[in-house]
Amino acid sequence: MRTVITGGAGFVGSHLCERFLAEGHEVIAVDNLLTGHLRNIEHLGANPGFAFRKHNISEPLLIDGPVDAILHFASPASPADYLAHPIATLKVGSLGTHNALGLAKAKNARLLMASTSEIYGDPEVHPQREDYWGNVNPIGPRGCYDEAKRFAEAIVMAYHRYHKVPTRIVRIFNTYGPRMRLNDGRVLPAFMGQILRGEDLTVFGQGEQTRSFCYVTDLVDGIYRLLLSDYSDPVNIGNPSEITVLELANEILQMVPESKSRIIYEPLPQDDPKRRKPDITKARTLLGWEPKIDRAEGLAKTLEYFRTVL
Ligand code: UDP
Repeated sequence: MRTVITGGAGFVGSHLCERFLAEGHEVIAVDNLLTGHLRNIEHLGANPGFAFRKHNISEPLLIDGPVDAILHFASPASPADYLAHPIATLKVGSLGTHNALGLAKAKNARLLMASTSEIYGDPEVHPQREDYWGNVNPIGPRGCYDEAKRFAEAIVMAYHRYHKVPTRIVRIFNTYGPRMRLNDGRVLPAFMGQILRGEDLTVFGQGEQTRSFCYVTDLVDGIYRLLLSDYSDPVNIGNPSEITVLELANEILQMVPESKSRIIYEPLPQDDPKRRKPDITKARTLLGWEPKIDRAEGLAKTLEYFRTVL
């Protein structure tokens, strides 16, 4: 397959590029480098099947020759990033998704769109199944991301129903691993950066809110299976092992026993979801997928990576 990966220089995008090349596909990574970085893909440069295009997918994209699949992963994705770039986030979810769909239609390609557990907002249903419609504040600080992704799902389904474009929607839950940015503001790089610098770990609120963290290679495997499937409704991909933020802070403290870091408490951001855990029944039954890397292994690999970039 000749594949276009938007957001290809980002955290998840760069792991997708790697996986698709390893499977023998051609990859054209497209990224405007707003939150992505060339260092994430520089090791792929020597591969003859790999090409990079610096381009903002919120502007129309022309590609010469055939395209078989488009993976639309371009978007700021951490709360700190989309708060810093709310308009770019809204544009890439709406105009960017429209452009990616236009390219898919022109090339008779299939398109897989990166959606998110943020679709569910601060959920009133637990764990979250794909048929839950969500509880999103459209005008709150997270609205720029949540509503852009909700619009993106809507336009993907419209192209699927009206133009018969073969589409896939993956709803990605919290994911972590090498090539996250230490300063992207997410909880896991925040805690790991803090412990490696000997600073205190900043738990927001009382740390009772929960998340469920999936190691990046597990996520990528789920996405690969979903793309090759013929299932066009949304599918959750995430690790259902749920943990409070405070427990996560303690697990990370235990990984560096010599550390003098302690836990300090800071105010909880507005609209911070209280509980989040994917129901992955669909991924299990439709794709034969489930996560393989548990948190102990994943956290160890990730801490090792952050030591090299600090
Ligand atoms: N969080 C925290 N300390 C930090 C950064 C985040 O306690 O330094 C909390 C945040 O309030 C949220 C959870 O960790 O409850 C996950 O936040 P993140 O920014 O990683 O992403 P989210 O899952 O909210 O999209």
